[in-house]
Amino acid sequence: MGVPRVYCECAVCEEARSAGVNRRLRSSVQIDDPETGVIWIDCGTDWAKQMEAAALRTVDTLLITHAHFDHIGGLVEWADACRWLRKKGRAYAPSEVIQEILDRFPWLSNQIEFHSFDQPIMLGKWRAFSWRVHHGKNGYAYAFHFEHTESGYKWAYCSDSIGLTEQQQKPLYELDLLVLGTSFYEEPFAYETRSVYDVKEAIALTEKWRPKQIFLTHMSHDIDLNKRYELPENMHFAKTGMTITI
Ligand SMILES: [Zn+2]
Ligand SMILES: [Zn+2]
Repeated sequence: MGVPRVYCECAVCEEARSAGVNRRLRSSVQIDDPETGVIWIDCGTDWAKQMEAAALRTVDTLLITHAHFDHIGGLVEWADACRWLRKKGRAYAPSEVIQEILDRFPWLSNQIEFHSFDQPIMLGKWRAFSWRVHHGKNGYAYAFHFEHTESGYKWAYCSDSIGLTEQQQKPLYELDLLVLGTSFYEEPFAYETRSVYDVKEAIALTEKWRPKQIFLTHMSHDIDLNKRYELPENMHFAKTGMTITI
């Protein structure tokens, strides 16, 4: 829902409304590589705001992890922008995700070309592949793995997942950078009602996966960035607008 949550007056949401250290938008990543043009992962309901903050007028390529509204809610606005620019948008998503999106918003294909991301694709010198991951009570999502064919740099984006099988965990081993979604520090709710890992689980898992660097994203109002948490030294909370150079 982003932070603050509209209905909520907890200390973190109130802080987000005033000073704003905890102000968080729906999870999204911009990949800025001169050889690929501007790539975005996901396009949630905060998309227009995020584009303004990045001083961008358009996106060249969009990758979509799954069809939940916090990841696709901005597509309608992007399609409208494409119409005004008279330039079709280019989006890649696994076929079943494209199907879900077009079932709900059939007119999007007038302005956006959807390409299947079932097989690996090349984005500049990045070889990218997607794989399906468990998303708990919320069903499924996809995660993306990127490897630079010259430098060998490997990173992955996995914003919405929980209870990954050994097979689903395989692409997450030995990365240079992992961006992982965690909603709570320690989620108090029954496991079968949950849909995203929490920070404590992420700490245990990344001890096994051994990424060089980890950024946690998709955080709810449970995480207070003014508080001190015991995180491993290679693990950091992502912040709105944060830039990482790789
Ligand atoms: Zn989701
Ligand atoms: Zn989500």
